Amino acid sequence: MDFKEIIEEIYLNVKNLDDKGKVATYIPELENVDPENFGVYITTLNGFKFGIGNYKDKFSIQSIAKVLSLNLAYQLIGERIWERLGVEPSGTAFNSLVQLEADNGIPRNPFINAGAIVISDILICNLKNPKEDFLAYVRNLSNNPELNYSEKIAASENEVGFRNIALCNFIKSFGNIKNDPTEVLDFYFNLCSIEMTCKELSEVFLFLANNGFSVNSKTSVLTKSQSKRINAIMLTCGFYDESGDFAFKVGLPGKSGVGGGIIAVHPNQYTIAVWSPKLNEKGNSFKGMRFLEEFTTKSELSIF
Ligand code: GLU
Repeated sequence: MDFKEIIEEIYLNVKNLDDKGKVATYIPELENVDPENFGVYITTLNGFKFGIGNYKDKFSIQSIAKVLSLNLAYQLIGERIWERLGVEPSGTAFNSLVQLEADNGIPRNPFINAGAIVISDILICNLKNPKEDFLAYVRNLSNNPELNYSEKIAASENEVGFRNIALCNFIKSFGNIKNDPTEVLDFYFNLCSIEMTCKELSEVFLFLANNGFSVNSKTSVLTKSQSKRINAIMLTCGFYDESGDFAFKVGLPGKSGVGGGIIAVHPNQYTIAVWSPKLNEKGNSFKGMRFLEEFTTKSELSIF
């Protein structure tokens, strides 16, 4: 399969599309990005690597980091994690409060904000120095000691984080947050502020294509069964209210973020990261979605 040729052709087609998307502005600092950025990077398990466009530029990975925090929490407390949150698509907005009342403070899944906030709480309970330890975990997975939080973006999100503050306090009222909400939110905002390039993103996530084994850190990050489960949650819940559409059109597990990044995983084959900051009305990268749809269609490779 000549991935290079396919990627080059699709990249040019999608680059020239009339992008109707809009850069996320609800976190003020996210606006400071060139909306025309567009990068792609693929890493295959058999050693092929290829990038095009702005694949070396760092961007805010936002919700994509929720997969990494879930991984670490799953590693630390195993199946007990599912006592604190579920694995069903929510069918509501990523920052919605409505279901929590009926569900007694148990978030529907780890990728909506409510779920990622509970995961943050679990990590704070189980790590000595939560922010430092989490960053060390991500650096180790990527074999890159330079990866970092963006203080600017975390502070910017904190300033306007009224909904997340409400979510955290609301969940705490049901007893499903154990720590001080200010500490939990500080961890959560930092988690979302991590910056990576498409290349780094694709490399960090390779363990999910490799049954939980990280080539970079040379360790089993997850068991085979856990890796299957994380991929399943990505497939069913990874794209806000557009997860069904992504599965339908692309046919791969993946996760998007409001910074315009998308990581998609083909188990036993590759990971591919795409970044273009303008988002469609569902909050996913307009060009990123189109690129991946054409990529699995032209390559005729998906999990289905
Ligand atoms: N930090 C963002 C928030 O809580 C994450 C949103 C996202 O990428 O989905 O609003």
